[in-house]
Amino acid sequence: MPGLHEDECLSLAAAGRLPEEEAECLMGKYELGRLLGRGAFGKVYHAREIRTGQSVAIKAVCKQKVVKGGFTAHVKREVSIMRRLRHPNVLRLSEVLATRSKIYFVMEFAKGGELFARVAKGRFSEDLCRRYFHQLISAVGHCHSRGVFHRDLKPENLLLDDNWDLKVSDFGLSAVREQIRPDDGLLHTLCGTPAYVAPEILAKKGYDGAKVDIWSCGIILFVLSAGYLPFNDHNLMVMYRKIYQGQFRCPRWTSPELQHFLSRLLDTKPTTRITIDEMHHDPWFRRGYDETKFRHHNVDFETKPMLEAADGEAKCLNAFDIISFSSGFDLSGLLNDRLDGKVEADRFVSAEKPEVILKTVEEAAEEAGLRVEPGKGWGVRLEGQGGNFVAGVGIDRLTEELVVVEVKRREVEAESGRCLWKDKLRPKLLALIYQPDPPVPGG
Ligand code: ATP
Ligand code: MG
Repeated sequence: MPGLHEDECLSLAAAGRLPEEEAECLMGKYELGRLLGRGAFGKVYHAREIRTGQSVAIKAVCKQKVVKGGFTAHVKREVSIMRRLRHPNVLRLSEVLATRSKIYFVMEFAKGGELFARVAKGRFSEDLCRRYFHQLISAVGHCHSRGVFHRDLKPENLLLDDNWDLKVSDFGLSAVREQIRPDDGLLHTLCGTPAYVAPEILAKKGYDGAKVDIWSCGIILFVLSAGYLPFNDHNLMVMYRKIYQGQFRCPRWTSPELQHFLSRLLDTKPTTRITIDEMHHDPWFRRGYDETKFRHHNVDFETKPMLEAADGEAKCLNAFDIISFSSGFDLSGLLNDRLDGKVEADRFVSAEKPEVILKTVEEAAEEAGLRVEPGKGWGVRLEGQGGNFVAGVGIDRLTEELVVVEVKRREVEAESGRCLWKDKLRPKLLALIYQPDPPVPGG
């Protein structure tokens, strides 16, 4: 399987079994219904799963628009992680199907439509704002803790289910989006409003996905309580300037606690912007926040799809299974394809939590003077010595207790680069290696 070209993988699901696209039936599994909406890259339809009769939403993206005509390893990796996200306020992506011309993202159907359609009828009370904001932060925090960032939190992606609970959609799809060419290069400036975009993105600086999402959450909270955008102007440049300067004024009905909280969210400096952990100490946020309500949903990584895909017959796999499986150890996305030349890889099994492993890696790298950049999912990219040392570290779950850590390094000419790995990084990582308990003497 890993030997297959990604495009071959994607078309496998369709190959030989089904017509390219039947008028209203997708791969014999879903009956396509009405158009729910249109995004920059495709249309979203209501559909019914034929086997269960359940409603789903299907986003269809034209493959032609996907750069290089196929999913890159980077996207595959992100999608496989996304599929493992489970949270009551994160819209579940259940499968990805592909025909020769299109990619279909099958997701939970959000019956209540867009949250902002409700705000349009009138701004929310602070209590209602808080209720939705708690759900939003719980969803965002869950995804962040699994290394998935949204980077495009905006009204169209805040949907409601039939209980009027929040469902955040398109989580992790930003990587897919980055691979897709919009019809028109200007599209983002013309249609996409920068109103939700953090100042550091506008400044085209490197940015931290978590901080960027928090900024967008701040804008969302402002809109829920005020009924209008904090930074707005028909002149885009003026709007940009307001965002850069963090110039906004709360309406007079806003409580002082909420005003203070908003100023912490909409802090233009990412380094001082409030973090999710800090929110728990904020008087406005803290009220009525019940963490335990969300906790039991935090089901960890699923190992099944990956392993099933490995065992199953190719024709039984859909594109998603193949994506989940084949992206397992593929770090090329993490390394950004910038690693030309020979790459050396080290792999080991660890019983530590991914967070602990990443923290160890980051600390060791920082100590060694390397720059650490977040990769997609559970991974980081390390770089230093004027480009002489480049490595990617990725983590994948093996069993419930164990993960595989893979470190890929560009083979370097410079002796200093080799020493850095051998003397500084490797010894720290060795401590993470899983060692089965020694047999009990006499046992
Ligand atoms: P982008 O193309 O940047 O993702 P977008 O989020 O507006 O922008 P889509 O994700 O394609 O675009 O969604 C288009 C519209 O379809 C949304 O605005 C929403 O109203 C509707 N929609 C999307 N997903 C669902 C869903 N799972 N259930 C119900 N409606 C949905
Ligand atoms: Mg969307």
